[in-house]
Amino acid sequence: MTDLYNLTIHEAHELLTTKKLSSVELTQACLARVKKVEPGVRAMVTLTEETAIQQAREADKRIAEGKVTPLTGIPALIKDNMCTKGIRTTCSSKILETFIPPYNATVVEKLTAAGMVLIGKTNLDEFAMGSSTENSALFTTHNPWDLERVPGGSSGGSAAGVAAGEALYALGSDTGGSVRQPAGFCNVVGLKPTYGRVSRYGLVAFASSLDQIGPFTKDALDCALVMNAISGHDPNDSTSVPEPVPDYTHGLTGDLKGMKIGIPKEYFVKGMQVEVDSAIKAAIKKLKELGAQVDWEVSLPHTPHALAVYYIIAPSEASANLARYDGSKYGYSYKETDNMWEAMEKTRQYGFGAEVKRRIMLGTYALSAGYYDAYYLKAQKVRTLIRREFEAAFEKYDALVTPTSPTVPFKIGEKADDPLQMYLSDVCTLPINIAGVPGISIPAGFANGLPIGMQIIGKPFSEPTLFKISHAYQQVTDWHKKRPPV
Ligand code: GLN
Repeated sequence: MTDLYNLTIHEAHELLTTKKLSSVELTQACLARVKKVEPGVRAMVTLTEETAIQQAREADKRIAEGKVTPLTGIPALIKDNMCTKGIRTTCSSKILETFIPPYNATVVEKLTAAGMVLIGKTNLDEFAMGSSTENSALFTTHNPWDLERVPGGSSGGSAAGVAAGEALYALGSDTGGSVRQPAGFCNVVGLKPTYGRVSRYGLVAFASSLDQIGPFTKDALDCALVMNAISGHDPNDSTSVPEPVPDYTHGLTGDLKGMKIGIPKEYFVKGMQVEVDSAIKAAIKKLKELGAQVDWEVSLPHTPHALAVYYIIAPSEASANLARYDGSKYGYSYKETDNMWEAMEKTRQYGFGAEVKRRIMLGTYALSAGYYDAYYLKAQKVRTLIRREFEAAFEKYDALVTPTSPTVPFKIGEKADDPLQMYLSDVCTLPINIAGVPGISIPAGFANGLPIGMQIIGKPFSEPTLFKISHAYQQVTDWHKKRPPV
């Protein structure tokens, strides 16, 4: 048998339900893997070993009683910006370093009910602001494919953890690419669902109109299984949509006959790495061989404005969302003064890192009287144009295919001092959040041993189409089966 930590969810489920494997054994295999790789990878902020063993025992009991779901007894990781009752939730920020939530995020509640085994909470760029985990105030996570390189971000810990076999799946959050970009960099599958598909209740808010929680898995089928468990309307999140949840594992036929796929030319940008360009084009040819009709001449002309729109809207919303961290309610609090204003100011001065402060200042500026119309309102108008452009494209195509990132994973430190260069690593993923549509990144090749991700974008609630295409591709390729050397 292969190493247990290399199993997919569906493979492990099969072994668990036929009693060839217990959840305790599987959990111990992942914990042993954590001990081995964590000194180099550093995916995890908090290891929840005791919780894991206890949940594994309960899962084994459930399995013995025949009360199983596809996720029962399967080890998982949760990004450390989702609330876990009684377990520290830091957002990789000094300001929340000691925060222990009194409640579970809805997704955590749902996964726990499904029988999750929680291995730990994963590292991120502080408050999910970044593309490399270098903005974490705690430490940087390393890419399991090359420890000198970044795993992507902001959900870099979740992506690296799944790639390195520390758990079988993970959750991340994606505001402008934070699930898809690290998935691409670590050679795993990562989905940003349709806005409103998955409850954000208990996800620490960054930019509320863009944030969405999504899974990291080893293949498309596993991703569908996790989406079955976490999707659906939640009365605690007024932006979650009361749209029925289909069984996402249906329709994975391996056949793409009749599927219309468009290739938007604006995503094959200047400055893109040649190996990425050729890998994605080769992958698209495969989709054609599988029966899809491919149109190479699609144009989404507003794409170049997405970066600017994002960096007005996301910081604006962040500046409002982060106003709550003032030292009086939770987290770090500056105590060496009797002056309330000084305490608030110093709490934020010491508690937030440089990137978070930069975004708060940008957002506050964009929303201020006198500048609001020129920046925020204008950005919202362009946002509408971008959304309409996608709507028009989806009248003709079932899906659009692009690279996930213009490059393979870069070196730690390479872009850390240049925020604009860092922002550019999400050019291909940002427009999808702006439009609120779903996007998935799947492994599609390598350049010099470093992973390349392919992004597939669909109309709202077309996750089944994204899974169908991804699954078909994975039937005829084995990029997703490659494991890192770590
Ligand atoms: N890299 C982008 C940013 O820094 C997106 C982050 C995210 O999706 N959370 O805002």
